Amino acid sequence: MGGDMKIYSIFNSIDGEINHFGQGTFSTFIRMAGCNLQCSWCDTKYAQDSNEGSEVNIRTIMKRVKSIGCRKVTITGGEPLMQGEELKKLIGALSHEGFKITIETNGTQPPDGMPGVSSWIVDYKMPSSGMMHHMMDDRGFLALGPNDFIKFVITDKPDYNVAVDKYEKLKKLKLRARVAFSPGAKGMFSPYQPIIAKVIQWIKNDKLFDIIINLQLHRLVEINEEK
Ligand code: SF4
Repeated sequence: MGGDMKIYSIFNSIDGEINHFGQGTFSTFIRMAGCNLQCSWCDTKYAQDSNEGSEVNIRTIMKRVKSIGCRKVTITGGEPLMQGEELKKLIGALSHEGFKITIETNGTQPPDGMPGVSSWIVDYKMPSSGMMHHMMDDRGFLALGPNDFIKFVITDKPDYNVAVDKYEKLKKLKLRARVAFSPGAKGMFSPYQPIIAKVIQWIKNDKLFDIIINLQLHRLVEINEEK
């Protein structure tokens, strides 16, 4: 069934982020260890380093996911596409068993050649992350389908302005994926609510009513990740 993957944790919770099946859907999370970025406001710093993960065989991952019993799986990280070949095998095993799969990825490489994924959630990093220059070519975002999402994390007005420019440019180029603006605090201990209200107001002022607001539900209700 394939080799080992670097896994940080496998746990079940509500899916707090935007995805094709809806925020609040129960999901089994497979959090991969290792990331090729270092976003300034990263809320999963513990999963950035692949050395923090355990090597787990795909067969063992499948056993654990099946034992949890939830039919939806969210693969996240870290950055899942860093383990591309093994990830393909894991997707194959999950889709063979009929799991609904969503994958969160950081926008540095196109999620090509991975049938079996119901919905991709692809970040577009904004200036406050310090990682915007690592984003893939627009073609990678334009290749996404109508069940996929591009997620812009917005921590301030400059982020918002850049996100709107990008959104309008991609829209003119016939973007098919849906777009979500995700208000984000600048650090784990920064207040979250004020930026939510601001981003909603900015969108209303600009009448950009096709944009979806992504609220991190797990953060609002303070659900902690299990390991
Ligand atoms: S891409 Fe995700 S995991 Fe990687 S540093 Fe940025 S927020 Fe953290």
